[in-house]
Amino acid sequence: MDYQGFFKESLARLRDEGNYRVFADLERHLGEFPKATFRKDGAERDVTIWCSNDYLGMGQHPDVLAAMHSALDRSGAGAGGTRNISGTTHDHVELEAELADLHGKEAALLFTSGYVSNWATLGTLGAKIPGLVILSDALNHASMIEGIRHSRARCMVWKHNDLADLEAKLAELPQDTPKLIAFESVYSMDGDIAPIEEICDLADKYNAMTYIDEVHAVGMYGPRGGGVAEREGLMQRIDIIEGTLGKAFGVVGGYITGSAELIDFVRSFASGFIFTTALPPHVAAGAVASIRHLKQSDAERQGQQDRVAQLRARLDEIGIGHIPNPSHIIPVMVGDPVKCKYISDRLMADHGIYIQPINYPTVPKGTERLRITPSPVHTAEDMDRLVGALKSLWGECKLARQPIAAQ
Ligand code: PMP
Repeated sequence: MDYQGFFKESLARLRDEGNYRVFADLERHLGEFPKATFRKDGAERDVTIWCSNDYLGMGQHPDVLAAMHSALDRSGAGAGGTRNISGTTHDHVELEAELADLHGKEAALLFTSGYVSNWATLGTLGAKIPGLVILSDALNHASMIEGIRHSRARCMVWKHNDLADLEAKLAELPQDTPKLIAFESVYSMDGDIAPIEEICDLADKYNAMTYIDEVHAVGMYGPRGGGVAEREGLMQRIDIIEGTLGKAFGVVGGYITGSAELIDFVRSFASGFIFTTALPPHVAAGAVASIRHLKQSDAERQGQQDRVAQLRARLDEIGIGHIPNPSHIIPVMVGDPVKCKYISDRLMADHGIYIQPINYPTVPKGTERLRITPSPVHTAEDMDRLVGALKSLWGECKLARQPIAAQ
């Protein structure tokens, strides 16, 4: 086989379909988030990032940085091993205790990313619980889907956030069949939120376990940043709460929380946990500082929500359509892949504004969008510039001046 030729052809096809990903080369500036330097073709320019998942700017919080510096000086660069073979440092132990407390659970388990936590946990439960059927929301993240596939467990996909469809699927299964309902709280591309309480009611009725991905909600919702389930007083009704340390907490890593037995089970059987080097201790220390800060401070959450409300109102004033949703994610609808990319390119080139275009297959065709994530560190001037730039580009591209519903 001509391997290099195969790679080339596959990539050419991807380009033809408009799905080839180009990364923005950014250097973030500490103390000046969301400002960064963007480099391309030997040139560089200052940009303002409007699409980061460092939702609260915790990646530059002084407490987080101090904890990371101190752990780096105390313990050095890496963990030195897998968790089982010398890689469990006291920072990891403290972080798992902090996470269990955040979600009101008996125990927590760290992974190297949110992706790995979903993949490894669902993969392990699906493979090891005899006869388990996993009921998966149609818009679940790729990491959940891959984990379920990898497990080879039977999977029933229910229509997104559709309780009637979920119930119909649960009712098809014998009462004594083991079942797991897997879903998210805040869905990242539309920003809509699952009916968590009703899902828990169905889980009780049909004797199913529940698994929630709160990746876009931890740190962001609830009085202590425990997520939407905390805000709604539902943490105790969910068996497994999964989250990330890489978004609102500003660092990197993923985790699950649950009963002591469940966590011990995944710890003991999940190869994606067992056979990989542990996170560096300073990453764990930074995450502990971030979680502790957001447990007692509402200022970042409040600042962020204020900015989101302001931007939504400004978009409404100038008639730019965005999906109305109850979360912090503002999907500004373009509905055309070429225009979406064009607008993103012009924002960068003419206005120093970086918003990555979101096209198919990340979202369905016809719903191409700019996913805007305001943060408490965006200033009023940043917002004026963004709104002005969008207004002129919407005029230039002759885009519809009314809300476009999510599909
Ligand atoms: N779940 C969801 C819903 C996500 O959007 C993402 C990442 N975008 C992940 C899990 C993976 O988390 P991480 O980035 O920590 O790997």
